Amino acid sequence: MSLHPTDLSSHNVANEQRAGDQQSPSTAPSALELDGISLAFREKRSLLPVLQDVSLTVKPGEFVSLIGPSGSGKSTLFHIIGGLLKPQQGRIRMHGRDMTGERGHISYMPQQPALFPWRTTLDNVLLGQENAPRKNTAVPPQYASERERRKEALQWLEQVGLGKFAKAYPHTLSGGMQQRAAFLRALLSPQELMLLDEPFSALDALTRADMQQWLLRMWEKNRRSVLFITHSIEEALLLSDRIYVLSARPASVVHVVDVPFPRPRREEITLDPLFIEWKRTMTGWMREEKYKLDGDMDNAQSVHKNIPEDGLNRHE
Ligand code: ADP
Ligand code: MG
Repeated sequence: MSLHPTDLSSHNVANEQRAGDQQSPSTAPSALELDGISLAFREKRSLLPVLQDVSLTVKPGEFVSLIGPSGSGKSTLFHIIGGLLKPQQGRIRMHGRDMTGERGHISYMPQQPALFPWRTTLDNVLLGQENAPRKNTAVPPQYASERERRKEALQWLEQVGLGKFAKAYPHTLSGGMQQRAAFLRALLSPQELMLLDEPFSALDALTRADMQQWLLRMWEKNRRSVLFITHSIEEALLLSDRIYVLSARPASVVHVVDVPFPRPRREEITLDPLFIEWKRTMTGWMREEKYKLDGDMDNAQSVHKNIPEDGLNRHE
């Protein structure tokens, strides 16, 4: 399939209604639908608005990324989706059911692997299944005996190169290995939707690149519904079907990118001229938001002027 700059497709939602309205109608209910989520933290005498009217959709089997400046409210949004925080406005639906404020419906992989040091790798991987609620989940869990679950987890550990470490404790594993174990824990949890919060940000550059390729292959094989937070534009373009670009705090969706690259994708795609063009465009957007966060509006405006309009096909 040939890729051409006219394939660039983004929604600049600044002057539009909701990002959620952008989706083409589909009969299958979305794995996740955020509808107009707003939240402000109460400080001593004031309110800190963190999220403002955030809407987005993850369809079943889609890989969707959220990208936005540090401190814009991305992790807060995950806490809302996980039911740890209640939004002041907006609703969360999973597979058509209102789940606002409810816990236990997602599997979550945090920035740090968060493996329990007193449990073996295998027992850490099995933890997601032990802790998952057995009723009222968005997708009914598949019941399996403990023996079956251990056998399955062992097969997975083999597949991700951790077979020899099943009985080892986390401190004997490298950072990348720990992240693979944490990812398996999320993958083997019965909840269909996975939230991954900057899972590779603590890794060195080479391990990170390896882990991106690894995640790409794992996801293409398993096609779980994923919402992925990242700082890295390249990572988002490489992995995602769609990218929501958040503004500086209070975060709202300012761009929605339908990533045009066919699958399966491999590392070489990062050398494609269209990939490089997208990276450049998105870097401009991100700079603009960063400058806004720094309160440097003059800079923000000059960056805005420098963004090339050619090749951008905006759906407005
Ligand atoms: P991101 O993940 O995008 O870096 P966060 O969602 O962690 O950003 O934080 C967004 C903003 O909300 C930050 O300014 C942070 O200090 C603030 N914040 C996060 N959690 C709380 C909390 N529980 N109480 C008050 N402020 C918070
Ligand atoms: Mg965060």
